[in-house]
Amino acid sequence: MEDQSFPECQAQELFDEFVSASTCRAAMRSFSQLCEHLQLDPSTAERPLYRPIKRRLNYWRANGLWAKLDRRGAQEEYQRARACSDVTVRCVIIGAGPCGLRTAVELSFMGARVVLLEKRDTFSRNNVLHLWPFTIHDLRGLGAKKFYGRFCAGSIDHISIRQLQLVLLKVALLLGVEVHVNVEFKKLVEPAEDQHRHKLGWRMEVSPKNHPVSQLEFDVIIGADGRRNTLPGFRRKEFRGKLAIAITANFKNRNTTAEAKVEEISGVAFIFNQRFFQELRQETGIDLENIVYYKDDTHYFVMTAKKQSLLEKGVILQDFADTELLLSRGNVDQNALQAYAREAADFSTNHQLPALDFAMNHYGQPDVAMFDFTCMYASENAAMVRQRHGHQLLVTLVGDSLLEPFWPMGTGVARGFLAALDSAWMIRSWAQGAAPLDVLAERESLYRLLPQTTPENMQKNITLYSVDPTTRYMNTSPLTVTPAQVRHLVDTGEEA
Ligand code: FAD
Repeated sequence: MEDQSFPECQAQELFDEFVSASTCRAAMRSFSQLCEHLQLDPSTAERPLYRPIKRRLNYWRANGLWAKLDRRGAQEEYQRARACSDVTVRCVIIGAGPCGLRTAVELSFMGARVVLLEKRDTFSRNNVLHLWPFTIHDLRGLGAKKFYGRFCAGSIDHISIRQLQLVLLKVALLLGVEVHVNVEFKKLVEPAEDQHRHKLGWRMEVSPKNHPVSQLEFDVIIGADGRRNTLPGFRRKEFRGKLAIAITANFKNRNTTAEAKVEEISGVAFIFNQRFFQELRQETGIDLENIVYYKDDTHYFVMTAKKQSLLEKGVILQDFADTELLLSRGNVDQNALQAYAREAADFSTNHQLPALDFAMNHYGQPDVAMFDFTCMYASENAAMVRQRHGHQLLVTLVGDSLLEPFWPMGTGVARGFLAALDSAWMIRSWAQGAAPLDVLAERESLYRLLPQTTPENMQKNITLYSVDPTTRYMNTSPLTVTPAQVRHLVDTGEEA
């Protein structure tokens, strides 16, 4: 009897280990151990993958999660995981940031085969993202609280980037996404004939060069690799504002009662609090345009600082008109930057945080950074089709690759998730045989709505949000972009 129950017991232990894994590596390792123990080969098993796991792991803790995933998977748009599976669309996603992972999850629910590449094997960003009500609801529906008990408890509406990545990675693995870490996408490889005259479809070059995914053929590729998007063919629009220098700082949160009492500062309203900024300037010489403070795994601050005060406080050593030179490593005094961020944090929380010790970043250094926000980029288009030797490839961007957010306004991950869902919707239409120009016209029409979105001008009933854009946006018809207007987004390789 004992012998029989041992494997079940071990499976439960492995499952618990997976659910509570606190790093990317640990989550990947415990998941593969769990699959091995359950004698499941994730590459050939039924999709979504959690179903065969569920049959082998009938355990109360896991059952709560299966119930969540079953409920989500029952959304009619997924067509019981067959919306993208009849012609087996194979999708590659570049980047395991929040938006790449969210796209992977959505596509898997629709039955697509998804391969995700991430060039790192660590999730190390302490910085905290603001979540709109719909993103909180969305993540709860995916079981976020099962993986991260403190997820958006009470009135909390934020999460650190690394926790968000961890939650979504675990959901993605359970759905059957094939995740490869330490693999960097380099470039697309056009269809060709190999030396045996086999016709090959679209492939990619990756680093390390001989990694098996370089042999993979696919029909859809999604750029989710952040602001430095590596997929060619997308023109970038630049929004140049007046000089904007942002500072982010993370301090250790020891979760004491004194720390718990300190009030957060949520950005948008605070920007109009002119008296605070005047007093801050008079008392400390620090001159800010805005500041946001979230109490999360760390005490996280993001602020936009005026150049003159950074020069006066010795943070920037020498004034240059060129922003790159101005903020270059050699021109920034790191100790003065730490002191500046600490003083701003202390003043803005009314000196109530007992100790302001920096949390450490990925490099073991105090987690404070200064960024230039003067230029923000957005891609001119959201998608395109490439066609070579009879092989079509749908190419699309999501997240920061598509539309870069202004961090202090906290729009990044909400608009990122909207674009992830919109792209998944496009891939669904593509898989169901819609004409390329119609697919692209709809995608571009939705993309035009994205920069204007706020929680107030979206559909009110967030419980009904799904991959279908009409459940989320107010005005989706008639389409504002016609098929004739997107002809240039079909690249056949011929000279125009
Ligand atoms: P990202 O989160 O940038 O993820 C891109 C992923 O792609 C990364 O994991 C990267 O390693 C991977 N990648 C890149 N190139 C390749 C490649 N060639 N092959 C394989 N993988 C690749 N937003 C805020 O609101 N507040 C903040 O304080 C804040 N801080 C940030 C700090 C940093 C250092 C960065 C990079 C971003 C920050 N952001 C912040 C932006 C915020 O993280 C994004 O809006 C949000 O994470 C959505 O991003 P994403 O998934 O589109 O891309």
